[in-house]
Amino acid sequence: MGNVRGKCENDVMWYDENVNLRYLYGLDKGKETFEFCMKAGLIANRYECCKCGKEMKLVERHDISDGFEWRCKSKVKGQMHDVKRSVRKGSFFELSRMTMNEILVQVYLWVSQSKVAFNMKESKCSSKTVCDFRSYCREICVVEMIESSMIVGGSGVIVEIDESKFGNRKFHWGKRVEGFVHLKVNHSVSFKDTDTDAHTNTIEGTWGAVKRGIPASKAKCQLDYYLAEYVWRKKNKHMCNKFTAFIDSIIRVYPPLTADKEPEEAE
Ligand SMILES: [Zn+2]
Repeated sequence: MGNVRGKCENDVMWYDENVNLRYLYGLDKGKETFEFCMKAGLIANRYECCKCGKEMKLVERHDISDGFEWRCKSKVKGQMHDVKRSVRKGSFFELSRMTMNEILVQVYLWVSQSKVAFNMKESKCSSKTVCDFRSYCREICVVEMIESSMIVGGSGVIVEIDESKFGNRKFHWGKRVEGFVHLKVNHSVSFKDTDTDAHTNTIEGTWGAVKRGIPASKAKCQLDYYLAEYVWRKKNKHMCNKFTAFIDSIIRVYPPLTADKEPEEAE
């Protein structure tokens, strides 16, 4: 997290609440959005050429929504190569066809707990797009929850997730998250009291709060998603800017690539 913030030390905007929906709307859809994403660490600020190993150049492209692309045109042992790479490599943006600005707006609207109808009106996206996006955001929370036991209950209460119980859930965008590609609904989350080391499933207040946030129609099939969202919000409730806090979570789950993957990894 420090690393991400470090890149933005000249940008006072990054720290404060001025990074809000109005701010995102104010960014031009090409260069300014691109620069914001790079400063934030959502996309890589360098990329290594797979042919010559040198740093690729950032080339402006007016015909693609990102506005830029990595490119290396040079000669190795008399052989010319011309390699192009998307600036989205490995990032949260990679598998979406929406513009980076539209994606940021969707993330912002989810973080600020806007209703689906409000989101559709605001972003002019279909209900399917909006709902898919809300799932993508919750997936980020699921991965973070699995990767760390988070303190959610205040006085030493830890939610523990048994990773081995996650078996068969398809992640929308989670293809790169090794070990978490196939997740299954896990209803066997247990609460542990750190003082007594005793496990308990009867923290009614917490469960009540989680359940209240879940629409009845989603309660069975997406319980883990909603629980993860609850945990994330609880953990980040004191952050002055929850949007940038969530960007940090996105980066932890989708660290952008700075080079092509090794062949054995890519399989
Ligand atoms: Zn090259």
